Amino acid sequence: MTVHSQEPTRALESAKARFTKANPKSKEVFENASRHLPGGNTRTTLFAPPFPVVIVGGSGGEIVSADGSHYLDMLGEYTAGIYGHSHPKIIEALQHGLTKGVNFGATGPLEGELAGLIKERFETSAGLEMLRFTNSGTEANLLAVATARAWTGRSKVMVFTNAYHGSVQSFNKKVEPTNIPGEYIIAQYNSIPSVKQILSQLEPNTLAAILLEPMQGAGGSFPASIKFLQYLREEATRLDALLIFDEVMTSRLYYDGGLSGKYGIKPDMITMGKYLGGGMSFGLFGGRKDIMSLFDPRAGGTITSKLGSKAETMMLTHSGTFNNNVMTMYAGIAGAKILTREVIQDVNALGEYLRSSVSQLLIARNITPAASLSEKSDLNDPDIDNVPRGQMWTSGIGSINTVHFGRNDELIDLRDLFYFHMLENGIYIARRGFIALNIQQTKEDVDRFVDAVKSFVDRWEHILKMS
Ligand code: PMP
Repeated sequence: MTVHSQEPTRALESAKARFTKANPKSKEVFENASRHLPGGNTRTTLFAPPFPVVIVGGSGGEIVSADGSHYLDMLGEYTAGIYGHSHPKIIEALQHGLTKGVNFGATGPLEGELAGLIKERFETSAGLEMLRFTNSGTEANLLAVATARAWTGRSKVMVFTNAYHGSVQSFNKKVEPTNIPGEYIIAQYNSIPSVKQILSQLEPNTLAAILLEPMQGAGGSFPASIKFLQYLREEATRLDALLIFDEVMTSRLYYDGGLSGKYGIKPDMITMGKYLGGGMSFGLFGGRKDIMSLFDPRAGGTITSKLGSKAETMMLTHSGTFNNNVMTMYAGIAGAKILTREVIQDVNALGEYLRSSVSQLLIARNITPAASLSEKSDLNDPDIDNVPRGQMWTSGIGSINTVHFGRNDELIDLRDLFYFHMLENGIYIARRGFIALNIQQTKEDVDRFVDAVKSFVDRWEHILKMS
């Protein structure tokens, strides 16, 4: 790529200049907000230089910017927006909720109903026997880890490279300075030897939990191999530590129990959130009844931690003003009724169609190598280590996918050029190439996306092609 190495950088400068010229209102909003919010926003991930597109509305599968441009929304609010925009049933539920009052400081009839609806999907196959609500996936993971520490009386938690479990448990290359303090041990994601080596050096009875996503979402739509997850299940059981699956993103990939259910691997605890709140703030943590019963105030003094050397009794508390906020409860209940098994199947099939269409195009253009037929690869195992990588390639499962640039995501300029190319073609994705479809999208929408990939490849083939 050396001959052309300056070309993407120069093209990116032009793309940014065109973007700035085409989006004066977004620029103005950004500059005003920057007087109050560092970086002009309050979600780091949304920042994209020179400034992000400011979105003022959405309907169905589309969103509209402050400058009046319409975009096909392929980002789907990082998986939380599975319903598309302004879904009539969710609007109806929220409007009904608003007329009834929203701040009670009291238990209502809705939280048990929502919990029951969620359990219908996740109890049998993912082991969600009891659960509690939070306002975000971040909180859900904090509570799951805290629960595991209390249950086991141990402090160490195994996490994995490139993992994101919320803003304060983020292990992207290193432990972030903003992480909560605690004894985290970072193993290589999807590597049995790495886990084996770390466990062999661990003092006995010190591991409280193993926490991971069955497919890393923010980490790049990287699915772990089923063998790896099975191995962690066995090791957690052997060590009396809790296996916690963070399915905040991935629970939407399979109706019966998310990826836990799809693979038949039951974690001890699971965290979820995003779309399950019907598009409102939401998170949950839950799992085995014996563990979650620690939160039952009636049981104070009668629950005994399984591992306490002396019969230790405990009762855990977990409060949160908005844990049962009625807007989330109404929207979540409406959402659970929208997402039937068939609807979930369809949106995931559409995502499979997207990923296979893009990768066939890239293989045909000699940009991604054809799938390896090595003896090791098992077509039923989504293992990221068996996904063929070129200068541009795709990874993911079902409706959650990422387009990558460079075998190790090192072609940053091309990644950014792709983002601007998509915007110029009326398609909104995350700057990092992340895509999550919503249920209002169609095959025609995906074909439009694939056409835009094609025109990008036409422009950059000379750099992307394998030599
Ligand atoms: N875990 C995972 C796997 C996530 O993808 C996210 C958010 N992208 C979180 C936790 C945090 O959830 P929230 O943004 O709701 O705090």
